[in-house]
Parts: sequence; C-alpha cells; structure tokens
Amino acid sequence: MRFHVLTLFPNLFSAFLGESLVGKAIKRGLLEIELTDIRDHTGDPHRTADDRPYGGGPGMVMLPAPIASALDGILSRYGTKPTVIALSPGGCKFHQGIARELSLKKAVVLICGRYQGIDQRVLDLYCDMELSIGDYVLSGGEIPAMAVIESVARLIPGFVGDPGSTGQDSFATGLLEYPQYTRPRVFRGIPVPEPLLSGNHKEIELFRREEALRRTRKARPDLLGNDEPPASGASLPNGKGPGQAKGPAGD
Ligand code: SAM
Repeated sequence: MRFHVLTLFPNLFSAFLGESLVGKAIKRGLLEIELTDIRDHTGDPHRTADDRPYGGGPGMVMLPAPIASALDGILSRYGTKPTVIALSPGGCKFHQGIARELSLKKAVVLICGRYQGIDQRVLDLYCDMELSIGDYVLSGGEIPAMAVIESVARLIPGFVGDPGSTGQDSFATGLLEYPQYTRPRVFRGIPVPEPLLSGNHKEIELFRREEALRRTRKARPDLLGNDEPPASGASLPNGKGPGQAKGPAGD
C-alpha cells in the first residue's frame, strides 16, 4: 500500500520512516510512503505557501494553488482516484474502523495543514474526508498523518510479526484490550494474576474477557453496547465512499 504525504515539513518524517516496524515494512516493500514538499509547487522564488485570510483575523492560511498542483501531479498517476484526506481538528474523529477501511486501499493521500489551516476550496475540490486525531489542536498535520499511517500499516498483513496480535488490540473486538503482564511473577510486591499462571486456556480467556470489560466500562463506557467492529463502508465520515469522491482526476 502507498501513502502520499503532502507537507511543508518533510524532514519531520525522517526518523518515523526509517525506524521501527514502519521502517521495516518500507524496506520489505509492504508499505510505500512518498513525501511531497508543498513548497516545491509554489512557483515563486520565495516558495510562498501561505497568505493572510480573507475577512481578516489572526494567522495565515495555506494557499490553494501549491497544494492543488501537488495533488494534480499525484492523481494523474492513477487511473482510479486514491482516497484524499486532509488532517484537520475540524474533521471526523479517526478510529480503528476507518483505519481498517483505509488498510484495504492501494493508495491514500494525506494533506498536512499548518498555520490556520488549508484554503477551503482545496478541501472542496479534492478531499474525500477530513480526519481529526482528537479534540485538541496541534501546530501541524504531520503528527496526525504519522498516527494515521501507523495505525493503518499495523493492519496490513505481514506488518506485525505475529498476525494474531492486532486481532487482540484494543477496539479490534469493540473493547479495550485486557491488561498485559510479563516476567517477573512478582514485581514490587504485586503478583501476576493467578488465572494467567494456571495454564488453563479457558480460565485465561475468561479472565481476560472480564478484565477487558472492566477496563472498557471504566475508561470507555461509550464503547459498550457496540461489541461489533464498525461495519465496513458505514464508517467513512461524510458518507462518501473513497471511490465516489469528486475531484479533478475523476473516478
Ligand atoms: N485553525 C485550525 C482550527 O481551529 O481548526 C487549527 C489549525 S492547526 C494550528 C494547523 C494544522 O494542524 C491543521 O490544518 C491540521 O492539519 C493539523 N492539526 C492540528 N490538530 C489536529 C488534529 N487534532 N487532528 C488532525 N490534524 C490536526
């Protein structure tokens, strides 16, 4: 699977793309990440990528033309328009169901905003969805883009060493994951719960299920009553399936 990332700060991705499981997946050809420096599409000697907002107000807004030019270049390489996503605190909240849907795509384009955000016309013309990684404001879309890439990549077959491990992750079953323990058996006076040492698989499974429920009830009661993972196709924000988006590259 391929991610295109449009950013004003491509160097922020260096360590992320070179290290850990993402780095390994890139080396093994499971994952491709193409970074596009939006300033390379500015076409003026000062490489200007922002301007003041119409209507006044604080800060600057990202110019539409450089982003559109970068997107045109990317989209022209595809017969079927890839899903185009702008990272934005005003977007729909990202969750595991969306990650699961994106993991089935061949190509996804992520646009990282900066300043006060991106000129609305780029969003209207090209974007299938805006995604927020939570109800807080960061200075740019690069960290949200990394969060999206890593959560999606984890779901690509072969990305994690043990294919069973992502099936037990929080949200995979609609619940938070059960608590984990490793050696030693007693740490600072706290023993590993007895059922985990029993060797009895049924007992272990029951204990973990009860702990997952207890945790979920405490930390995320909103998840209860929804034991099923979000249905495929139903969870895309704004109701547009990725193949249905309108944009200059066409469908
Ligand atoms: N003025 C914008 C607003 O209030 O919605 C905030 C702009 S923020 C300072 C600059 C960029 O950071 C955004 O365009 C977006 O790409 C990114 N960003 C910040 N917080 C984010 C979040 N919670 N989720 C996704 N992207 C975020």
